[in-house]
Amino acid sequence: MTVGRFAPSPTGPLHLGNLRTAALAWAAARSEDGSFLIRLEDQTSGAAADHCVEQLADLAAIGLDWDEPVTRQSERSALHRAALEDLVARGLTYECTCTRREVREAASAPHGEPTEGTYPGTCLRLPAAERRRREREGRRPALRLRAEGVRLQVTDLRLGEFETTVDDLVLARADGVVAYHLAVVVDDADTGVTQVVRGDDLWTSTPRQVLLQRLLALPTPSYLHVPLVVGSDGARLAKRHGAVTLRDRLAVGETAEEVLGWCAASLGWAEPGTSMRAEEFLARFDALGLPLTPTRWPR
Ligand code: GLU
Repeated sequence: MTVGRFAPSPTGPLHLGNLRTAALAWAAARSEDGSFLIRLEDQTSGAAADHCVEQLADLAAIGLDWDEPVTRQSERSALHRAALEDLVARGLTYECTCTRREVREAASAPHGEPTEGTYPGTCLRLPAAERRRREREGRRPALRLRAEGVRLQVTDLRLGEFETTVDDLVLARADGVVAYHLAVVVDDADTGVTQVVRGDDLWTSTPRQVLLQRLLALPTPSYLHVPLVVGSDGARLAKRHGAVTLRDRLAVGETAEEVLGWCAASLGWAEPGTSMRAEEFLARFDALGLPLTPTRWPR
């Protein structure tokens, strides 16, 4: 059976792009008579309890429903840690004491074939003197995956196939918190998720997650990465773009049905200005009919 999910980071109120992604994730699961879960990814700094409550209220206000009690990533750290320890015990990790700046500089150095943001494995080959210098500075290590330049191909319902070299991604930050990619993979598998629908900003990271699934012998869900909503400047939608949250839209006199209608219209599934209940959004859901370009707000 299909098990879908929406996994927002509660760092602020959901904006139109988040709401549209949530509606799509819900509709994708429901269109297959599947169940639908919500997981609050509240491990990151900046996640506040009141944002959690507000986000859930907003999802309910546009008519989405979910089947199990909402899970919180912050309450699942024992599971994340167990997966991390498994990888450590199997020799699949190494310590990294590079600062962000050192990573940035090393990643852009003209050697090998570094793709943007890729960690070139500096700490795997750190000269002893430099290692000692960093120890004296009291740097605490992060843990990285020993990916060994493996190439991996992933498939997305809308975007097709993508193959890339997986980098030595961070699995645990220097403060001990298990990093996003590992937590997502562990949580999705543990809650039986079979279908991942999320913003297409995460598409190029999917090979990292699929590699972790393979290393941990976890199943790979199906993926559908959906277009983002961006501001008129082309940047990811944010507060500075105006009235972009549900509350903002209600304050300017729209109803929740009009907001959901906007979601459908912005995908070409309804006339602009339509009001829509969740059931109608579901009836119009068409994974393969999703546009290939981001939506600009305002229209
Ligand atoms: N929490 C992530 C976000 O809000 C999404 C994670 C996922 O869907 O895998 O961007």
